[in-house]
Amino acid sequence: MRNGDQNVAVIGAGIAGATCARALADDGWSVALFDKSRGVGGRMATRRVEIDGANGAKHTVRFDHGAPGFDATSPEFASFIELAAKNDLLTQWTPRAEKNGAADKSLMWVPFPDMPSICRALTTDLPVRTNCTIDALRPDAGGWMLESAGVALANGFSHVVVAIPAPQASNLLRSQKSLIAAHSANMLMLPCWTMMAVTNEPSPSVNWEIAHPTASPLAQIIRNDAKPGRERIDGLAQWVIHATSEWSQAHLELSPSEALSALQSAFADWLGGSLTFHYAGAHRWRYASPATSTPLTEPFLWDDSLRIGICGDALGGNGVEDAWRSARALSDFLINKVDGSQARSPVVSSSLAQTRTQ
Ligand SMILES: Cc1cc2nc3c(=O)[nH]c(=O)nc-3n(C[C@H](O)[C@H](O)[C@H](O)COP(=O)(O)OP(=O)(O)OC[C@H]3O[C@@H](n4cnc5c(N)ncnc54)[C@H](O)[C@@H]3O)c2cc1C
Repeated sequence: MRNGDQNVAVIGAGIAGATCARALADDGWSVALFDKSRGVGGRMATRRVEIDGANGAKHTVRFDHGAPGFDATSPEFASFIELAAKNDLLTQWTPRAEKNGAADKSLMWVPFPDMPSICRALTTDLPVRTNCTIDALRPDAGGWMLESAGVALANGFSHVVVAIPAPQASNLLRSQKSLIAAHSANMLMLPCWTMMAVTNEPSPSVNWEIAHPTASPLAQIIRNDAKPGRERIDGLAQWVIHATSEWSQAHLELSPSEALSALQSAFADWLGGSLTFHYAGAHRWRYASPATSTPLTEPFLWDDSLRIGICGDALGGNGVEDAWRSARALSDFLINKVDGSQARSPVVSSSLAQTRTQ
């Protein structure tokens, strides 16, 4: 079978889905992506909010309310990231970290102008259907048909790649009675309540840009407007604050306004001094990060009789780099399986090398 005969549906356009789709498309596969959100990126997410500044001026604030940034430790992922950096898609950020009052430096890679930029670049020339939750897969003459809310969306897929958080993958594949669904059901993930806020500049002022409080419910505080390429507004401070997974789990079913109120109080108490909120919003990530790392022979799951695979952070370990690694492993496996060719390494794609997203 030639790779051009392969028609793959990729469900989920986070870093795992975008990476897998890109690699397969670069190998000549026909690829279609589906995502339930308004855009690509998944947990590499940025939310835009309009706020009123001084003198009635309107400002658009962008909060990176999922992953704030990430590491690149393996040579393969580092090569991919270096190429993306050369194409102005991301840069290194060394925020001053708060540690018992002393400022020091930590380091992370931060996409700009916003977190989804890498996924947009990877998928730029691929068909991506957004606002589209896939809730069933049905066998059909050509392979697989995808359904959303009882409506057939697309069919004739020879392969399906499921690149969504493991518990959701397990739900989606439950009716196939496949071992890979059972396996992903065991991959538990932890939630994270996140607060996005604009306040006055704290007084007394702070000399750090990232903090890891030991006071529950706060796990991490990020000065979002200190990140590269993010707009600053005079006199105002923009924050993204993650609650601990323990607190988020215990308060999972709070309403957003209840969670917000608890996080606002905790932040104001922890910071001390006077704090006025000009904007505050809460987002619940039900599946923020894997609870444990599940050792697998390969960092993906594949059912050969169904021709369905699963990739994503829980399969590779934890975080953006492991989600990418999982997707690369699955795409390499499929490419080698179909035409026996060696996958190019690193698969980055023409689109990353040529595209500078807005
Ligand atoms: C608050 C927070 C902080 C984090 N901090 C870090 C960090 O510091 N460093 C780090 O490396 N990582 C961090 N992460 C984790 C990192 O964001 C993830 O590991 C990585 O982005 C996962 O990528 P993925 O492609 O596997 O999944 P996702 O990014 O979750 O992508 C899955 C996609 O599938 C879509 N989807 C789900 N179900 C369906 C369906 N039924 N039909 C269609 N589409 C569907 C979703 O909309 C989503 O776009 C953090 C995450 C959160 C939430």
